[in-house]
Amino acid sequence: MSNDSITLKKFQQEIAIYLHGNNGSNIKKKLSDIYMNYSELFNLENIINSLENIINSNHLDGITYLSELMKENLIINGMSFQNQLSLKKAQNSIIWNGELYSLQTTMSRLLLEPSRINRKELFSSVEDIFTDKLNPIYKKLYKSYNNFAEKLNLGDYTNLCISLLKINKTNSLAELHSFLDQTNHIYFTSLEFVTNQKLNLSLSQLERHDAFHLWNLNDNFRYSDYNQAIDKTLDYLKTMGFGDILRRVNFIIDKSFSRSFCIPLIIPDKIILVYSIRNRADDFKILFHELGHALHLAGSTKDLTNGRALWINPIISEAFAFLFEGLVTNKSFVTSFFGSQSESYYYYSTLNTLYLVRFYIAKLLFEYSNQNESAEENTISYWGQLFSEITGFKASGKSAFYDRDFFMGANNYIKGWFLFAQINNYLEDKYGDEWFSNNEASAFLMNLWLKCSYISPEDISTKLGYRSLNGDALIKYLKTKLLRG
Ligand SMILES: [Zn+2]
Repeated sequence: MSNDSITLKKFQQEIAIYLHGNNGSNIKKKLSDIYMNYSELFNLENIINSLENIINSNHLDGITYLSELMKENLIINGMSFQNQLSLKKAQNSIIWNGELYSLQTTMSRLLLEPSRINRKELFSSVEDIFTDKLNPIYKKLYKSYNNFAEKLNLGDYTNLCISLLKINKTNSLAELHSFLDQTNHIYFTSLEFVTNQKLNLSLSQLERHDAFHLWNLNDNFRYSDYNQAIDKTLDYLKTMGFGDILRRVNFIIDKSFSRSFCIPLIIPDKIILVYSIRNRADDFKILFHELGHALHLAGSTKDLTNGRALWINPIISEAFAFLFEGLVTNKSFVTSFFGSQSESYYYYSTLNTLYLVRFYIAKLLFEYSNQNESAEENTISYWGQLFSEITGFKASGKSAFYDRDFFMGANNYIKGWFLFAQINNYLEDKYGDEWFSNNEASAFLMNLWLKCSYISPEDISTKLGYRSLNGDALIKYLKTKLLRG
């Protein structure tokens, strides 16, 4: 196991270097060559042999190793379909006002488009691309995932993810519905208020394309020096005591990427953070989110013999990303960093977080509903209904496949939000609302990262004094902020 783990880690590092270096020059290796060199690692027989033992045991390192291996196998299985999808997304096939646009550029345009008529038209062209060009490929992709799961005797793709992620579906369903029930009232009352205020519409008129405009906070946020953001943020994080860790993070500002992301080349010594500026107020939110990932990765232990450190748990990583992202809605932090802001800014951005949590809950419920064998029109109408009911934005559901995350990623985000709220709550209780200016709080976080003295997200939760990792702290966090506003 330990040898295989190290080989898998080496493979993942080569992939990371390939992906990062792909923007630069002198690439000698092809992606398929890297996979070929490690083909033994992905031998189906080996996987089948170790599967039974590992899945039935509670050995966390083993399960994490196996799910990493499964993800790589799914990537290999779906690679040709993923390539076709990327091509279709980049092809200029949307005609608007006599010009040709790709799906990607249309999506970026939608983020900044203030006219409702234009948005509606643009989004409907996007939806045509989903149904005509992407959905047929997505269906083949999921079929290949299902075949892989079948070969492993794991039922289908949905079931494979549930087993590997160790999800108890009954408990998870109860938890998700309870979160929705407990936030329905405050969510829809607040959403009605902002819909009236910003779009001059009633709640029942709200459509999916309105989300792009409603959550664009440029009008509510008084700060727009996006180009200065990195330097300013770095200075601030240094005063928080993160200077040594930050030296391992390499920042790249690149407007050509459609989104910002963090990619570990070598944990913890070489972490790349690509910051893409889209000229929206939430650029800062995204920057702080990625910084949370980067600090967590760059702050973790060098000890590669420790299996726990080898595989950074995605739920834990999201929790720290949300913790830093949360600073951008923390009034004392924002005031000292960006200057004073209107109350509407805090209100809108907190409501946006609740919208996103509910959106991801809809995604996970969709995964659980297991649409793998359903007819396309049923899948589409089911997603449309689920999304509309939970978020309040009327949707056709044509994006059903496009909205799915690889390997039930929605679960990582939801649990990540739950854990974030518990950590945030703990920091505020112990160090006050301004924990970010208390060096003891930074030291506490760095200690948590360096020692990796936890083996699972639940373990951190227990260490902080919570009985379990659930949504209670998040509900309290969101309600307190929305009621104040
Ligand atoms: Zn993230």
